[in-house]
Amino acid sequence: RKPLKLSSNSYDDDMNRFAIRKIHERENATLLMLVRNWELPGALKSMRSLEDRFNRDYNYDWTFLNDEPFDETFIEATTAMASGKTRYALVPTQHWDRPEWIDEDRFEKKLQLMQDKGVLYGGSRSYRNMCRFNSGYFFRQKVLETYDYYFRVEPDVEYYCDFPYDPFKVMRRNNKKYGFVIAIYEYEDTIPTLWDAVEEYMEENKEDINLENNSYGFLTDSDLLGVLTPIVDSNSDYNLCHFWSNFEIGDLNFFRSDRYKRYFEFLDSKGGFYYERWGDAPVHSIGAALLLNRDEIIHFDELGYYHNPYYTCPTSYHMRLQQRCQCNPHGDGQVDTNPNSCLMRWWKNGAGKTFLKYEQ
Ligand code: GDP
Ligand code: MN
Repeated sequence: RKPLKLSSNSYDDDMNRFAIRKIHERENATLLMLVRNWELPGALKSMRSLEDRFNRDYNYDWTFLNDEPFDETFIEATTAMASGKTRYALVPTQHWDRPEWIDEDRFEKKLQLMQDKGVLYGGSRSYRNMCRFNSGYFFRQKVLETYDYYFRVEPDVEYYCDFPYDPFKVMRRNNKKYGFVIAIYEYEDTIPTLWDAVEEYMEENKEDINLENNSYGFLTDSDLLGVLTPIVDSNSDYNLCHFWSNFEIGDLNFFRSDRYKRYFEFLDSKGGFYYERWGDAPVHSIGAALLLNRDEIIHFDELGYYHNPYYTCPTSYHMRLQQRCQCNPHGDGQVDTNPNSCLMRWWKNGAGKTFLKYEQ
C-alpha cells in the first residue's frame, strides 16, 4: 500500500498543530498561589485554565504557599496538574499571625463593628492575616528567593484567552515591574484611614517617592473635577482606585527593595491591617503608583480573565478569534466599560500615552 503523500509543508503544519509542542525559553519566574487545602478543587480549576491558555508551552514552576502544611492529596493533585515543577512552602507564623503589639480590645471591638456593619470579610481574622501577608511578606518567603518574577494565581479564577505572549518576557524586556488586568474601586469602609497613613508616609519619605513620573494621577481625581464624575464618593483625596491584585505579575526585586519595605512597615505600624481591614490590593497599588515610574506598570490589555464577580475580555473581534477567547466583551460582569472600572483613570494618568507597542 502506498503511503499517503503529504507535502513537507502540510506535514509540518500538522506536526505543529497536533503533535510537537515546542517549549519556549523561560524567564526566571514562578506561578504563585497562596491557598488552603480545602480549596483544592478551585486551585485545580485555575491551574487547568492557566496551563491550557499559557503554561503548557512554557512549563513554569508552580509555587504554593499556605499557613498550614499542605496535605498529600493537595500535593499529588496539583503536581499532576502542573506542566512544570511544583514547590510547596509553609509560611512562618511570624509572617502570618497578628503581631503582639496589636491592642486586643481595640481589635476585637473593631472586628465586631465591621461585622455588624456588613463589611465584606469585616469580621474575619484570617482574611486580615492574609491581606497583611500579601502586602508585606509573600516576597520574603525563602522558596521565592531565587526568582525574579511571580504571577499570582487564585483558586476559582479563569483565563479566557490564549496568551499571545509570555507576560514575564514582556515584563523583563520592557522593564516593567508591576502588571495588572483589572482596576476597580475599593470599599471605603475597609480603609477609612489608609490614605491618612499614606499622606503621612509621603511627607516623611520624600526621597523614596518617584516625584517625576509616578501614578499619583491614577490615585486622585483633583485634576478631573468637571471632566469625570467619580461614581464612588470618597472622603479623602484618594479616589479608591486600585489594581485588582488577585491577578498580578510582579518583579520580586521591587517588593524586596528597601523602599517598598519602608512603605509597608510604615503602614503596618499604624495597625490598619487589623483595626480596619486594609487589603493588599490598595496597598500594592498605592505602593507601585508612588514608588515606580508609571512606565514600569503595565496593563495587559490582551488577556481575558475572570475572578468573581468581574471579568475582562479583549474588545477586538479579531483578537478574540485568534486567541480562542471564551468570553463576551459586552456581558454583565465585563468590568472595563462598566462604571466600576478605574481603567479610564489609568489611561488619563498617561500610561501608554505614547501608544508605543511594547516588545514581546
Ligand atoms: P477574595 O478574592 O478577596 O474574595 O479572597 P480569597 O478568599 O480569594 O483569598 C485571597 C487569596 O488568599 C486566595 O488565593 C486564597 O486561597 C488565599 N487565602 C485566603 N485566606 C487564606 C488563609 O487563611 N490561608 C491560606 N493559606 N490562604 C488563604
Ligand atoms: Mn479570590
